[in-house]
Amino acid sequence: MYQISKNMNINQMNVGNQPPRITAETVKQAKVFECTCGGKMFSEKMIIKKLSSLLSPTGREEMFPMNLLVCDSCGLVPKELDPDNMIPEEFKTK
Ligand SMILES: [Zn+2]
Repeated sequence: MYQISKNMNINQMNVGNQPPRITAETVKQAKVFECTCGGKMFSEKMIIKKLSSLLSPTGREEMFPMNLLVCDSCGLVPKELDPDNMIPEEFKTK
Protein backbone atom coordinates (compact mmCIF):
# COMPACT_ATOMS: atom_id res chain seq x y z
CA MET A 1 0.00 0.00 0.00
CA TYR A 2 1.35 3.35 -0.91
CA GLN A 3 -1.09 6.04 -0.06
CA ILE A 4 -0.62 9.71 0.49
CA SER A 5 -3.49 11.92 1.39
CA LYS A 6 -4.26 14.96 -0.70
CA ASN A 7 -2.74 17.55 1.56
CA MET A 8 0.51 15.67 2.06
CA ASN A 9 2.12 14.81 -1.22
CA ILE A 10 5.24 12.71 -1.48
CA ASN A 11 7.48 15.63 -2.43
CA GLN A 12 6.81 17.26 0.90
CA MET A 13 7.75 14.09 2.73
CA ASN A 14 11.00 13.58 0.81
CA VAL A 15 14.07 15.70 1.17
CA GLY A 16 14.70 17.41 -2.14
CA ASN A 17 12.48 17.58 -5.13
CA GLN A 18 13.17 14.42 -7.08
CA PRO A 19 10.18 12.47 -8.30
CA PRO A 20 9.68 9.43 -6.09
CA ARG A 21 10.82 6.09 -7.48
CA ILE A 22 9.46 3.49 -5.13
CA THR A 23 10.14 -0.16 -5.81
CA ALA A 24 9.22 -3.24 -3.77
CA GLU A 25 12.84 -3.38 -2.61
CA THR A 26 12.75 0.24 -1.47
CA VAL A 27 9.58 -0.40 0.46
CA LYS A 28 11.17 -3.38 2.24
CA GLN A 29 14.09 -1.24 3.36
CA ALA A 30 11.95 1.62 4.53
CA LYS A 31 11.28 1.89 8.25
CA VAL A 32 7.76 1.98 9.53
CA PHE A 33 6.94 5.52 10.55
CA GLU A 34 6.02 5.86 14.20
CA CYS A 35 3.95 8.48 15.92
CA THR A 36 5.62 10.15 18.92
CA CYS A 37 3.47 7.84 21.08
CA GLY A 38 4.87 4.76 19.30
CA GLY A 39 1.72 4.12 17.29
CA LYS A 40 2.27 2.71 13.81
CA MET A 41 -1.22 2.56 12.37
CA PHE A 42 -3.05 5.57 11.07
CA SER A 43 -6.54 6.30 9.88
CA GLU A 44 -7.71 8.94 7.50
CA LYS A 45 -10.04 11.46 9.07
CA MET A 46 -11.48 14.67 7.88
CA ILE A 47 -11.95 18.10 9.38
CA ILE A 48 -13.83 20.93 7.75
CA LYS A 49 -12.28 24.36 7.78
CA LYS A 50 -14.32 27.51 7.53
CA LEU A 51 -12.92 30.63 6.00
CA SER A 52 -14.68 33.82 7.04
CA SER A 53 -15.99 36.12 4.34
CA LEU A 54 -13.35 38.69 5.36
CA LEU A 55 -10.50 36.33 4.46
CA SER A 56 -12.14 34.46 1.63
CA PRO A 57 -11.08 35.32 -1.93
CA THR A 58 -14.70 34.94 -3.02
CA GLY A 59 -15.96 37.41 -0.42
CA ARG A 60 -18.28 34.74 0.98
CA GLU A 61 -17.80 32.34 3.85
CA GLU A 62 -16.25 29.18 2.42
CA MET A 63 -16.04 25.72 3.92
CA PHE A 64 -13.55 23.16 2.77
CA PRO A 65 -12.69 19.66 3.93
CA MET A 66 -9.16 18.68 4.88
CA ASN A 67 -7.81 15.16 5.20
CA LEU A 68 -5.84 14.21 8.29
CA LEU A 69 -3.86 11.06 9.01
CA VAL A 70 -4.60 10.37 12.62
CA CYS A 71 -2.67 7.95 14.82
CA ASP A 72 -4.87 5.04 15.90
CA SER A 73 -3.20 4.96 19.34
CA CYS A 74 -3.28 8.59 20.50
CA GLY A 75 -5.78 10.08 18.06
CA LEU A 76 -3.42 12.86 16.97
CA VAL A 77 -1.60 13.76 13.78
CA PRO A 78 2.20 13.49 14.16
CA LYS A 79 3.78 16.91 13.65
CA GLU A 80 6.07 15.47 10.95
CA LEU A 81 3.04 14.89 8.75
CA ASP A 82 2.25 18.58 8.67
CA PRO A 83 5.34 20.31 7.25
CA ASP A 84 3.28 23.27 6.05
CA ASN A 85 1.73 23.73 9.47
CA MET A 86 -1.81 23.80 8.11
CA ILE A 87 -3.35 21.52 10.70
CA PRO A 88 -4.63 23.17 13.90
CA GLU A 89 -2.42 22.49 16.95
CA GLU A 90 -5.25 20.79 18.82
CA PHE A 91 -5.09 17.87 16.36
CA LYS A 92 -1.33 17.44 16.42
CA THR A 93 1.23 15.81 18.67
CA LYS A 94 3.31 18.27 20.71
ZN1 LIG B 1 0.14 8.50 18.43
